[in-house]
Parts: sequence; C-alpha cells; structure tokens
Amino acid sequence: EINFEEFTNLLNWISKGIIKENFILPYAEKDLVKFENGKRSLELLGCEHEMAIEKVIIKKENAKALLFNLGIAYSDEVFRHKISKLNRFSKKSVLEIINDLCKFKIKNKAGTFIGARMGRPEKAKLRKLVGSPHTLFPVGVEGGRLKSVFEAVEKGSSKENFPLYECSSCKNSTIYPKCEKCGEFCKRKFYSYKLDQFSNSEDVDNEKFLPFKNQRIDIKHFFEVAKKKLGFRIDDLPLVVKGLKKTSSKGHDCENLAKGLLRAKYNLNVNKDGTVRYDISEMPLTHFKPKEIGTSVEKLKELGYEKDINNSPLENDNQILEIFPHDVVLPACKNSPDEMADEVLLNITNFVDHELEKLYDKESFFKFKNKKELAGTLIGCMAPHNCAAVVGRVIGFANIQALLASPYMHAAMRRDCDGDEACIILLMDLLLNFSKKFLPAHRGGTQDAPLVLNTRMRAGEVDDMVFDLDISKKIPLELFKAAEEEKSPYEIKMDLVKDRLGGKHEFDGIHFSYDTSDINLGPSCSSYKTLPTMKDKLKNQMILCKKIRAVDTTDVARLVIERHLIRDIKGNFRKFSMQVFRCTSCNSKYRRPPLVGKCTNCGGNLMFTISKGSILKYLEAALELAIKYNVSSYLLECLEIVKKDIESVFGREKEKQENLAKWF
Ligand SMILES: [Zn+2]
Ligand SMILES: [Zn+2]
Repeated sequence: EINFEEFTNLLNWISKGIIKENFILPYAEKDLVKFENGKRSLELLGCEHEMAIEKVIIKKENAKALLFNLGIAYSDEVFRHKISKLNRFSKKSVLEIINDLCKFKIKNKAGTFIGARMGRPEKAKLRKLVGSPHTLFPVGVEGGRLKSVFEAVEKGSSKENFPLYECSSCKNSTIYPKCEKCGEFCKRKFYSYKLDQFSNSEDVDNEKFLPFKNQRIDIKHFFEVAKKKLGFRIDDLPLVVKGLKKTSSKGHDCENLAKGLLRAKYNLNVNKDGTVRYDISEMPLTHFKPKEIGTSVEKLKELGYEKDINNSPLENDNQILEIFPHDVVLPACKNSPDEMADEVLLNITNFVDHELEKLYDKESFFKFKNKKELAGTLIGCMAPHNCAAVVGRVIGFANIQALLASPYMHAAMRRDCDGDEACIILLMDLLLNFSKKFLPAHRGGTQDAPLVLNTRMRAGEVDDMVFDLDISKKIPLELFKAAEEEKSPYEIKMDLVKDRLGGKHEFDGIHFSYDTSDINLGPSCSSYKTLPTMKDKLKNQMILCKKIRAVDTTDVARLVIERHLIRDIKGNFRKFSMQVFRCTSCNSKYRRPPLVGKCTNCGGNLMFTISKGSILKYLEAALELAIKYNVSSYLLECLEIVKKDIESVFGREKEKQENLAKWF
C-alpha cells in the first residue's frame, strides 16, 4: 500500500522507538518535521496508535503485528539488534521487501478497489399527494387555494363532477352509494348532457349516458351528515380538512366526507386509491436480536420466535433470531425530521377503529393504546410501479430509516432488489378504504395500486436476484484466493439460496458470515436530509470529498456541474420563457397573463411559476464551484456562455455606485 519512500520514513521513525509494555515512539514538538512523514505512513497503513504527550503509543497487540511484518519479535533487545540492520534494500516493491523479512507470506491488503457513490438519502415518511389532501372528496373552486372543506362549507355549496346515485328506498338523489338519509343502498344513475336526461343504464337507444354530472351540491349538508355520523362536536373538529379540487377517476366517485374528517383528526393523508401510505427505503435483514427491535421476548414468542439460531430456547433479549420471510421491522428514528412509522401506524389503527365503529357501525378491531401493542400487526408492502402488495407482519421498530425485511420479502415485492423504495399500508386500511373506483382514469392510473394481494410467497417465484444470496456461516478461503486471481464469482462453490429451492429449508437455516453488536449503531439520519439548502449540501459534499483520499475533488466538481447544475440552469432558463402564470389566491393557471394583468376568475394577483432566482441561484453555485475546484477551462467557458445567455434576458447585475473617496 505505501510506497518505498513512505516505507523508509516509517522505518526511520520506528527505529527510534522503545519497546516496553507498549511500543513507544518519540513525537515531541522538535521531532515534528523529522517524523511527521513516518507518522503519516502509519496512518496510511491503518495501524492504530494513540497520541500522548511528546510521544505516540502503539498498543502491544498492534505493535507485535507491525513488527512481525518486519520479521522482528516483540522484545526490546531483538528489536535494537535487528532494526539497525534494516536499511539496505535492493530496490524492490515494499510488499516484496516485507515478504523477504517476514517468515509468513504477506499479501496485498486490498486486491481490487470498487468505487461507489451515494445514490439518494434514506427515506421514511408519510406519503402526501400534492396539496396534502385528507380525503378524495372534490371541493371545487369553492375550497379556495387550500382546497379546504371548511371554506367550501362556509360558502354553502360546491360545483364539480359528482357521481349520481338514487336511494332505492326513499328515492333521495345523492353522491354516495349508501343513502345518507335512510341508510339503504342506492342505485347508480346516469346522465346525458346531450338529451339533458337521467337513466338507469349507460346505454339507452345508442345514446351514451355518463355515471356523473357536473352539478352544484349542498356540501354543508354532507358535512353536517358526516359530523353527526362521527358524533363530532365543534371542538372535536380538526383545524383544517383538505379535499381535492376535482376527482380524476372515470366515474368521479368520491369518498365519504367523514373519512376526511377522521384522517385529519389522526394527522393522516390520503393516497389516490383511498389508502394511507408510508414510504420507506428498503434494506435486507436476515437476523436480529429482540433488544434491537424493541419488542419483548414474551411478545416475540407469541409471534412464533421460539428458538434462536443455535436452537436454544428464546429467553433473553440478546439472543440472535432468524427473521421469518413475511416479517418486517419498521423505522422509528428519533433523529429524522419526518414522522416516525410507529406513530403513524398507531394513528392509522386508531383511525380505522374509529371508522369501523362510527361509519360502518361495526366493532373496533385493534383497540391499541400505545406503540408497544403494534407488534404482530399485518400490513401490505408494495414497491412502486407495481400492482401487487405482499402481506407483511410488523415485529418491531428500529432506529434505522429503512424497511428491514428478509431478502425474500424484498424480492417478492419487486423485480430488482436494490436500495430502492417501498411503501407500507395497514392491511385493514387497504381492505376497508381501497377502491379501484378512485384511481385516475389516465394511462398508468392503476400503477402503484394494490390490485393483487400476495398472502404467501413462494421461494421459487420471487425475483431471481435473491437466488445468488450466499448463506454460509463462513466465507471460504477459496473465495479470497480466487479474488486474488480475479476469477469470476460463479467459479467458486458457495452455499447459495438457489441450492435450497424446492427443499425443506428454502426459507430458513440461513447463516451470516460477519456479526455486529447492534444493527442500530450506524448513522441514523444522513446530513443530506438535515442540511437546509442546496448550497449547504453542496458545500458539505465538497468538504467530505476533500477528506477522502480515493476521491478526485476536481472530478466531483466537474460531475456535479455537468450532471446537475448546468442541466437545471439550462432547463429552468428554457422553461422560464415558456412558463405559465399562477393566481396567488385561487391557483388558476394561465398560459399567458390576461391583458387586465389580474386573475380573470377572482381578480387576484398573478405571479411566475418559475422564478428568476431559481435560475441565478444555481448559476452562482456552479460558477463558485468551477473556480474554487479548478475545473477544465472548457467547462468554465460553457458556464460563462450560459451566464451571458442569462444576462441577455435578465440584464447584468447592476454595477454599484461607489464613493470616490474610497479610491484615495
Ligand atoms: Zn334513502
Ligand atoms: Zn384567481
């Protein structure tokens, strides 16, 4: 690893050392110039050492190993005798010299280097649609910019596309499939704009009838019904309940408004299919200790964890257990700026209980009072761009912002099993509140919707990436030898998942090769999430780059400018000239600003959707980076040209008038 010069610097320094209980090297103020290169070599070797007053101490165990490489035993006498002779080498590589001195064969510490870079920061948060609605209920323009239910209720009515229903008993015309007046089920009605007629079916005499009508409804009435059904008094109402401006599903079916009041009460937001989702980055987990996931031994026994990996009965919270394929551990990370999964899940169970009791007149199901009771709850786990959910069981919570589950679980959810993102849905919420009828009618509307539920995975049918997972207790020596010869991985025989398929132990009896004291000990929240602005993130990224020897800082600056900044600048700049304008009070969008210069809907002020600032901000950052880290003159010129383009539109920064006296 170190070169010849660094090696001789090191030798020169340690030859002044003294062997006592520990190995002590001189490092006084006056020696600094002489020995700092030697100390650097020690650092580069990764040899642990401590700084003390005027000296550096290497603990006996480490010193033994260091000197052993030089063929010297740990004794001051031998050391004095041998070290003085170590000065004449016929110029060879350091590794060759060491192998001449040491009685065992010493190999290169790292044969192959693999480069990696950060993809994206970890995620664990409640999913919110644009505008954070609580319910799939349209409030129309009457809801205002916030699409507030209360605002529409105050105005008295809402005009939007609503579904058409008629009560089969009391003939009440309504928007719900169940009559809010008498509780009977309703019949769907259809309407033709052309004939201005209602009908009982979609097709009458070759005329197309629609299952909805753009109509003004008495939203105050539906709000009062919802309030009464839930038994809410004025002070039970949440501060704000947000709906949608309009629904985009085929039949324009809407949720019962009461669900929105309840979700808002429990701090939950609705997804486009009527469920509440929590998004999490995925991470595989094969084994855990009860104390790592905060679940008691008694509870885990109840859930079926009777024996640990050594087949001893589970008795204390420090025993290692093998995770069942459908079990998951959810994030409860105290350092995260977002809501924790245990809080959200508890709120969802309370929401569902409240809903069952008041809205559906059924008994509540969970009756949970605190987070400890959540272990054992069933959820649906889904990967994005997919339409199948896999049933999972929550067994605990860890201080990690990830969905920890067996590799089989991750593979069952998707076709590509890498640090991607998944979401969880409370199974009861999914069964109760999901409806295909809410899904947007446009292409891709059914994506991300749990149309299929997988209740029992089969090892042979999950994504085949997991088949190559090695499951042996120890990585065999042959693997390291083969790595040295740069052989292909499949030339080595190791115990893999695919060898178990179809057998009795296709899911269990998996081992791991390296242990850890606690899975929660890693960094729990990356600073990328806590740094507020793009500039802060960039600045800290560059500070980190400078600290890592393997990183070429100039190249990182080049990549950031080329891949991100310059694209954003050019993209935003292009969009600036083609942008739409937005009304600040009712959110109407205009492709061109109306001649009156005000919103023609409500008279509000119009403003840009893409600001000049968002372009200049990136330009400044890019130029700063380019100059500071000395990127190629080509890239710098590219930026200068972009700057000129931008200045030709926005004008140059005004030159400041300065006091003449400053120059004298
Ligand atoms: Zn009725
Ligand atoms: Zn407006």
